Amino acid sequence: MLKLYNTLTRKIEPFKPLNPPAVTYYSCGPTVYDYAHLGHARTYIFADILERVLEYNQFDVKRVMNITDVGHLTSDSDTGEDKMEKGAEREKKSVWDIAKFYTDDFFEMLKKLNIQKPAIITPATEYIPQMITLVKKLEEKGFTYTISDGVYFDTTKFPKYGELTGQTIEKLEKSIKAGARIEIVKGKKHPTDFALWKRTPPGVKRQMEWDSPWGRGFPGWHMECSAMSMELLGPTLDIHTGGVDHIPIHHTNEIAQSEASTGKKFVNFWLHGEHLLIDGQKMSKSLGNFYRVKDMEDKGFDPLALRYLFMTAHYRTQMNFTWESLEGAANAYSRLKKDFQELNRHSGKPEGRVQNLSLKKDPGQARMTEDNNYKEKFISAINNDLNIPSAIALMWDLIKDKKVPDNEKKKLLLDFDNVLGLGLSSIKLVQQPVPVEIEKLAKEREKFRYEKNFKEADRVRKEIEEKGYLVEDTPTGTSVKEK
Ligand SMILES: [Zn+2]
Repeated sequence: MLKLYNTLTRKIEPFKPLNPPAVTYYSCGPTVYDYAHLGHARTYIFADILERVLEYNQFDVKRVMNITDVGHLTSDSDTGEDKMEKGAEREKKSVWDIAKFYTDDFFEMLKKLNIQKPAIITPATEYIPQMITLVKKLEEKGFTYTISDGVYFDTTKFPKYGELTGQTIEKLEKSIKAGARIEIVKGKKHPTDFALWKRTPPGVKRQMEWDSPWGRGFPGWHMECSAMSMELLGPTLDIHTGGVDHIPIHHTNEIAQSEASTGKKFVNFWLHGEHLLIDGQKMSKSLGNFYRVKDMEDKGFDPLALRYLFMTAHYRTQMNFTWESLEGAANAYSRLKKDFQELNRHSGKPEGRVQNLSLKKDPGQARMTEDNNYKEKFISAINNDLNIPSAIALMWDLIKDKKVPDNEKKKLLLDFDNVLGLGLSSIKLVQQPVPVEIEKLAKEREKFRYEKNFKEADRVRKEIEEKGYLVEDTPTGTSVKEK
C-alpha cells in the first residue's frame, strides 16, 4: 500500500484516490521568463518519481502541468512587475517569444533528465476565459471586492484560510507585515487578501492583456492553477505538487479560491519538494550560483548523474548541491552503467523497458510476482513516502549479491528503473575486443578462402564458433564478434 506525506494533515497517510484506478494529479509548472535551473530540476524529478511510483502501483495517472506565461509577479504580495513582461523587456523580444524560448528550454531539461512529460501541459494564456468565469463565480458568491488595482479575494470570508500552513490567519498576516520589503497594494483590506484579476495600470501598455468585466488586465497567478486544474481534472484532485515555497501563499490561495467557488474540497493530497541549496546558499543570480543542466554538461557530466544525485536525498529534506557531490554521483552512476553492461554481457541481449503489467489490474498494488525479496523490499521503500535513497541502496545490494543469478539481476534492475529512470534500458551492449587467438583464426580462414580452399575455411569457421564467436561475411569484408 502506497503511503505519502500529506502537507495538509502533516502526516504520512495511505494513499487512496477518489476513483481508482484513476489518479488526478496536478503539478505547478515553471514561469517561463528565464532558464530552468537546478532547483527546478530537483522539483520536477520529485514530481516525476511520484508519477512513476503511482504507475508502478498500477494506477492510471492523469497528470496536468501548467506553464505560467502571464501574471506571475516579482513580488508575492500582488505588487511588482510581471516576470514575463520584465523578461521580454530585458531581452527586447515579445512576451510570446520569451515564453516559447524558455518553454523549449524547460522541455529540453526534462528530456535530458529523463523526466516523463505529464500527459497534459498547457500554458496559462490558453485558459483566460475559464479564469474570468471563476472570478465571476467568486464575485457572485460574495468572496471578492474590487478596488482600482483589480479584483481581490477577501480571505476573512473563507474560515479555513491558511489551513495548509498549519497557521492561523492572524499569524499569516503578522508574517506578511513583518516582511519589511513588502509593499501592500492600496485599498487591499487584509494583508492576506490576494488578486484574482489585475487591471492594467493607467498609462501602462502591457504586451499581454485581455478584456474582462472588471476592465482590461490579466489574471492573478494563483488563479491560473485553480482554473486549469479544475477544468481538466474536476473540482477535487487526488494530488497536487509544488515546491515548499508554494505552501504559504500560492497553494494557500489556490485552496481558498477553489473551495470558495465549488464548496468542495480542492485537493486530497498535497505534496511538496524541499529546497535545493548550492554550496550551502540559496541559489541566486547575484551569487553566481544559478546553475543550469547545460553547465553540468559543459563540465563533462552526464545529466543523469544529476538525477542520480538528487535521488540520493529524500524529497522532503533540504539538499546541498556541491560540485564534489556531483562528482561522487557521476562516479557511482558510471559504475552502475558498467555493472549493468557486465550483466548484459553475461545474460544475453538487452531487452528494453520491462513492462510492469499484470494480467488482472489490481490498482494500488505494485505487482509482486516471484517470491522475490528484492522486489518486495524495493516496493516497500518506494511506497514508504517515496524513499528513493533507500531504493537506491537496495539496488546496490542486489548488484553485489552473488546469490542472485545475472539474468534475474538484470530483470530486476530494468524493473526498478521504471521508477528510478536512470536510462538502464537504453544502455548499449558494448562489444568486448575479440581475443588475439580468435583474430588469428579469422585471418587463417581468410587465407583459405582466398586460396579457394573452402573445406579448410569451413573447418576454421567451426573452430571459431566452438570458441564462442561468430564469423560474418559481408560485401565489405569479414567480421568476427561474440555470440
Ligand atoms: Zn501553481
